[in-house]
Amino acid sequence: MTKKIAVLPGDGIGPEIVAEAVKVMQALQSDGLDIELEYGFIGGAAYDEVGTPLPAETITLAKQADAILLGAVGGYKWEELDISVRPEKGLLGIRSELNLFANLRPAILYPQLADASTLKSEVVAGLDLMIVRELTGGIYFGQPRGIRSLDNGEKEGFNTLVYKESEINRIGQVAFDIARKRQGRLCSVDKANVLEATELWRETMATMAADYEDVELSHMYVDNAAMQLVRAPKQFDVMVTTNMFGDILSDCASMLTGSIGMLPSASLDENSKGMYEPIHGSAPDIAGQNLANPLATILSVAMMLRYSLDEATMADRIENAVSKVLDSGLRTGDIYSDGMTKVTTSEMGNAIVAAL
Ligand code: NAD
Repeated sequence: MTKKIAVLPGDGIGPEIVAEAVKVMQALQSDGLDIELEYGFIGGAAYDEVGTPLPAETITLAKQADAILLGAVGGYKWEELDISVRPEKGLLGIRSELNLFANLRPAILYPQLADASTLKSEVVAGLDLMIVRELTGGIYFGQPRGIRSLDNGEKEGFNTLVYKESEINRIGQVAFDIARKRQGRLCSVDKANVLEATELWRETMATMAADYEDVELSHMYVDNAAMQLVRAPKQFDVMVTTNMFGDILSDCASMLTGSIGMLPSASLDENSKGMYEPIHGSAPDIAGQNLANPLATILSVAMMLRYSLDEATMADRIENAVSKVLDSGLRTGDIYSDGMTKVTTSEMGNAIVAAL
């Protein structure tokens, strides 16, 4: 049956990088991939069109689709708008409308780009790590929250870290399933020595391990995990953690790979329906100049094929094509180094299609 893909280019470099990802999907369509693309507005582009960053038509389109490909949202033009209609609201809104609770952020360093990292190349060359972050719970959403005045007049800020067993179970299941398809090693990151909510997190993960005998589960405190990520990141296969710890650790992990222009992401719901997007933003400083690196978006298509469309072979083909093009020395500005061939956004997209 034809799978429907909602395509939401968004703002800034979004339309340019999504255009290259669409070329890749079209190339796979002519090789038998049965998909149909439907476009929608989100972010500043949607605000300009209909006065809201997340139009009802876009929500309907996304809900009816089997998967969503998003470019990026935001830009200088909309910075002065009221926060309720800023482009970023569109992004947070669609994540919560679709209940996308599992955020998958791979940090892969292609060996060809080992010099692009700020870490020594032997520490990061060949890195292939997946961080699974809980996205709709924890301290970012827990109630009560706020800033209150105490009796002595002093102000106090407060938030609540709360996780139900069911929330831990569903993110755990995603992480164990992914580990099973990779090297079979899962590290659960918590602060169980100090925080009861994550003591429950650890206990729940440990209980789940009985159903996944083929996966080796380990536990690590978040402070140690941060240190280990920069000391010896290749020790990890899959990491699973709470919303806030995942927010911090995944940004740290992304920098191991040197360029933000290379990293895809997926946000999944309970049925593995997902929204796929590069981890970077709309890069307004280079928008409209055919300079952006489209590889994070193209690699997001590979994730979509693997996690939502059950087309692992096609996903492999895209990832191999990226590797081949990097082998041939083509580089956009963000990953360029001496001796390589500098190319534009569209030239990079064309090269990937040719390499497929
Ligand atoms: P950014 O990721 O857009 O840009 C940071 C730097 O990285 C810039 O110098 C940019 O030119 C460069 N860069 C980013 N992607 C690149 C690519 N594909 N190729 C080459 N270079 C690339 O982050 P920012 O500057 O902090 O934010 C710009 C706008 O994007 C803001 O409005 C912000 O709110 C928004 N934003 C959106 C998302 C999203 O849509 N998921 C995520 C982060 C930021």
